Amino acid sequence: MKIIITGGAGFIGSHVVRLFVTKYPEYQILNLDALTYAGNLENLRDIENAPNYRLVKGDITDQAFVDNLFATEEPDAVIHLAAESHVDRSITDPLAFVKTNVLGTVHLLNAAKNLWKPLNYEGKVFYHVSTDEVYGSLDFGPDMFTEETSYDPRSPYSASKASSDHFVRAWHHTYHMPVKLSNCSNNYGPNHFPEKLIPLAIHRIQHGEAIPVYGKGENVRDWLFVKDHATAIDAVFHKGTVGDTYNIGGVNEWANLELIHLLCDTLDEKTGKEKGTSRQLIKFVTDRAGHDLRYAIDSSKIMNELGWKPSVTFEQGLSQTVDWYLENEDWLNNVTSGTYQDYYQKQYNR
Ligand code: NAD
Repeated sequence: MKIIITGGAGFIGSHVVRLFVTKYPEYQILNLDALTYAGNLENLRDIENAPNYRLVKGDITDQAFVDNLFATEEPDAVIHLAAESHVDRSITDPLAFVKTNVLGTVHLLNAAKNLWKPLNYEGKVFYHVSTDEVYGSLDFGPDMFTEETSYDPRSPYSASKASSDHFVRAWHHTYHMPVKLSNCSNNYGPNHFPEKLIPLAIHRIQHGEAIPVYGKGENVRDWLFVKDHATAIDAVFHKGTVGDTYNIGGVNEWANLELIHLLCDTLDEKTGKEKGTSRQLIKFVTDRAGHDLRYAIDSSKIMNELGWKPSVTFEQGLSQTVDWYLENEDWLNNVTSGTYQDYYQKQYNR
């Protein structure tokens, strides 16, 4: 089987590529990635010479390129992760999100349909990896997003992902494309680009700089270790029902401020600082426009039907994550230079 994994040089994509390359040596894995600011081949150094792995550098917004790639490579499956993924960036440049997340997805769907429809889609699958943010925002309380929750995206990012989910389902209903979808909560772990909360805070603590926390830090997110998201994607890809959606989460809700406190204390302990030292770096900043209050996801469908469950607790996963960042300071320093620094200054030093 030949699988195109899009966005394989990014945070989650690199963990998915590694899992598939190492667990399924009989598969050929093509990593289709434009290597934007978020794509980093350092994430894949350990497997870049594997005989069943190949990088194809290319942009999914380029229709001619995508069509030609599918015609020449004739993939059997697509696992689609390539996206503009950062909510704050979507607020300042929404069009980039429409182009990559909506148009790029439609280009992939069209190319797959043109290749597979004449073969009656025999043995083919198009898997779209999406986010729980498409469901909107919850109040504090017991409610959770299920696969039946109506879509109510609030940010340009979540609107673009909701739109791409709809296009994927439309290709299933209209053209009979065998599709699968999953909507996952916030991921954390090694190789996470430091514009996102956890690696941003680790980077700031390591440099003794202010840790920006939006509003009062009361917004609640569910967090899942990225390697557990990769195993969930493996389960959905191989065992999920065609046409179905699976919610993926860690049953692990944290208010942002509580999470930052845990992170500060973990770093203080691991670096031999007195408890409380890093907490002094916390700086509350103007809240994100339209900041969703709470996300919580019900993962019982994937757990009951596909037998998937997270392999680590949050404390274990966070500890592994902090260790990784402490051991890979060069990775962090390399990605926090250049254009990222400009963005970072504008965004958080207001
Ligand atoms: P990321 O930003 O780390 O990586 C995105 C990757 O896509 C990068 O390698 C980038 O180079 C590539 N890419 C971007 N635009 C492209 C284009 N036009 N053509 C080809 N490649 C392009 O993202 P991530 O956090 O790893 O998220 C991966 C996917 O998972 C996204 O679809 C995202 O919506 C979804 N998701 C993310 C989270 C999360 O917490 N990070 C949670 C749920 C779902």
